[in-house]
Amino acid sequence: YRAMAMEIEEKPNITFDEIGGLSTQIRDIKEVVELPLKKPELFEKIGIVPPKGILLYGPPGTGKTLLAKAVAYETNASFIRVVGSELVKKFIGEGAKLVRDVFKLAKEKSPCIIFIDEIDAVASKRTESLTGGDREVQRTLMQLLAEMDGFDSRGDVKIIAATNRPDILDSAILRPGRFDRIIEIANPNEDGRIEILKIHTSKMNLKNVNLRDVAKLTEGMVGADLKAVCTEAGMFAIREDREYIKLRDFEEAIEKIKSKTTPKEEIKP
Ligand code: ATP
Repeated sequence: YRAMAMEIEEKPNITFDEIGGLSTQIRDIKEVVELPLKKPELFEKIGIVPPKGILLYGPPGTGKTLLAKAVAYETNASFIRVVGSELVKKFIGEGAKLVRDVFKLAKEKSPCIIFIDEIDAVASKRTESLTGGDREVQRTLMQLLAEMDGFDSRGDVKIIAATNRPDILDSAILRPGRFDRIIEIANPNEDGRIEILKIHTSKMNLKNVNLRDVAKLTEGMVGADLKAVCTEAGMFAIREDREYIKLRDFEEAIEKIKSKTTPKEEIKP
């Protein structure tokens, strides 16, 4: 049952080339995570301590998990993923132990990237009166902070955390020596969407499709939506027994995906 709360990949197969629209963020992440892992002697010579962890924040489906996996791939590191909400939901009384186990395993499997998704579930601002469940969350957070403080930032374990609610985070986790780099992963702009569409259509047989037109029609969509649009466009072509994909397929796919991902504000009771 542990395996469900913790996912291990010896070597994830994602490269930075497969991530669109995030070149600035990739540069930052490389500097903070990749460089210390690849060239620790550089930091020693200069006499500064590399960060232990970074926090990625932004809407769901923008590529936070992809980024963390790509860092692991590029540094030949193993990858451990834990999900904050699962740490505290399914394993009452087990959260703190699981955190301990994750860090222990990371040391054994180092170099290693620990990816903590939905960190807000264990690290939101403390409430005034603590109920039983909250106290459990508190214990899990305390263990996480203790583990982070306990390991050497010059070692080869790095932590990447992700959230889409940075506003509710407990400031304790943002203190120096913990997650001291915060990187925003925002919705892609038009150029970013073109890059993402290029990645997801690279193996598709397009005919007279200008991806800028598709990008213009997908304002507000994130990487995960764009991937779905590409797959759906391909399905429209298959349904019509065509071996190529045309702009009309994309237009129909966009309509379909948009109707599935109606923003919350528009859903009226
Ligand atoms: P969540 O916050 O829900 O965990 P996330 O930000 O971690 O979301 P991912 O799981 O990385 O999002 O993205 C989901 C899928 O969407 C990816 O596997 C990928 O196929 C596609 N995708 C998302 N963002 C990008 C991107 N920037 N470039 C290319 N593909 C992307």
